[in-house]
Amino acid sequence: MTLEQTLPICIAGDWRLGRGERYATCYPATGEAVAWLNAASVDDVEDAVQGAHQAFLHSGWAQRKPHERASVLYRIAELIRARSEELAQLQRQDNGKPINETRALVASAAGTFQFFAAACETLEETITPSRGDFVSMSVYEPMGVIAAITPWNSPIASEAQKVAPALAAGNAVVIKPAEITPLMALQLAQICEEAGLPKGLLSVLPGKGSLLGDALTRHPLVKRVSFTGGTKTGKHIAHIAADKMMPVSLELGGKSPTIVLDDADLDHAVAGVLYGIFSSSGEACIAGSRLFVARALYEPFMARLVAAAAELRVGDPADERTQMGPLISAAHRESVERYVALGVAEGGRLLLGGERPSGSVYDQGYYYPPTILEGLSNSQQVCQEEIFGPVLVAMPFDDEAQLLEQANDSLYALAAGIWTRDYKRAWALGRKIQAGTVWINTYKQFSISTPFGGWRDSGLGREKGRLGILQYMEQKSLYWGMNEQPLAWAGVQTEVGL
Ligand code: NAD
Repeated sequence: MTLEQTLPICIAGDWRLGRGERYATCYPATGEAVAWLNAASVDDVEDAVQGAHQAFLHSGWAQRKPHERASVLYRIAELIRARSEELAQLQRQDNGKPINETRALVASAAGTFQFFAAACETLEETITPSRGDFVSMSVYEPMGVIAAITPWNSPIASEAQKVAPALAAGNAVVIKPAEITPLMALQLAQICEEAGLPKGLLSVLPGKGSLLGDALTRHPLVKRVSFTGGTKTGKHIAHIAADKMMPVSLELGGKSPTIVLDDADLDHAVAGVLYGIFSSSGEACIAGSRLFVARALYEPFMARLVAAAAELRVGDPADERTQMGPLISAAHRESVERYVALGVAEGGRLLLGGERPSGSVYDQGYYYPPTILEGLSNSQQVCQEEIFGPVLVAMPFDDEAQLLEQANDSLYALAAGIWTRDYKRAWALGRKIQAGTVWINTYKQFSISTPFGGWRDSGLGREKGRLGILQYMEQKSLYWGMNEQPLAWAGVQTEVGL
């Protein structure tokens, strides 16, 4: 790939230039172009969906035995692993995450394909207890064309979480990656082709969500949308889906509480709180952005936390020692800055950060330092809205009842963290916190075998987990009549309705 070239995109198995406008994807650490491509157009959406539908009907993919589909998915996992360093470096350029993080994301994508290959070949259909002269079964069918709409913060891992189970289930998939990070989805399409996925089953349509994502969601042949992104966009998609009576899964935003109880192991809590908010430069849906600390240890804990945060290495994403890279774009950094200014205007005190770093690499990319605010209450705007940057708001609490009320006082309910040495307190609090995931004495740890998703404005449905494949299948009941006699009728009791 050279910069002079315009990258082709994958439309129903054909690699050709999109018919939308030409644009560059940029490396957030320097602002320089990484690749040029033409966005897809609405006509390309039509071609991709029609091609996917034809491939679903005629490629034989849906009819292949589960272990045959699984073998292609295993091969995709192998190819991702074989090219992992190249992919991790490209991903670093695509969205500016530190190389160690992008390596982990690539490894997770390979693991996801492997996991759903296994889920596919071991999925059981059931014979249900019969209540009559018949054998009754519950089976699953693929749905058809699935739209996978993904954000910019964790490319390849986000796409794999949708594409792997959807393909495993026998469907065709059209990916609409974030406009600014399309490169990993395009790589994934190449790998799937190389692994032997039938032509047309996977398309990648880079470009504007309001145009392409919208057209894709509205398309009558799209049978399900799996969306990860902001809550506002998710609600828009849910409205369209309601009109089509189409199922959706929505992985949306968060404003997660991290709670340090008075008996916490402070070394663990400091390390976990830092990782929870500042890894990925805070550009994570599950970022632990609201910190509640027991008042008895608030001062000493905050002193340690601030000192440790000041030591975080913010810099060049290519450097293996870097812990925080730049933010995704100049516009996003400005949005983070506006929130910090708002927090200060609302009475917040800056304990750390709050100003763009300058000099050397900092002058080229969209860097923002770890920032900690205190002196605010949970009801204020910076505690209620998702900032999606390295900004932590710390608040002391007096008792667990007050803590619980505040921790749960959010439109979002994606994740939470609890730091305590007492497993009974952790259990009681962990069950009362309203969130899709609660981490106890750890944070931001994931397993592909554990379902993930949010409550309330954080989303609908669950990804991951062995049964995550069922999201992409319709359930069907089959009854096999075993009657020796014709069905009884009119005044004679039958088995029906028993
Ligand atoms: P976004 O909602 O702006 O965009 C997400 C995707 O939707 C992009 O591909 C975009 O082009 C597309 N899109 C935009 N408008 C659309 C429309 N009208 N119809 C259809 N598609 C449309 O989000 P973003 O800024 O890319 O990502 C950040 C957000 O994603 C944050 O809120 C973050 O919390 C959330 N997120 C959630 C999870 C999770 O698993 N819960 C994971 C990662 C990110």
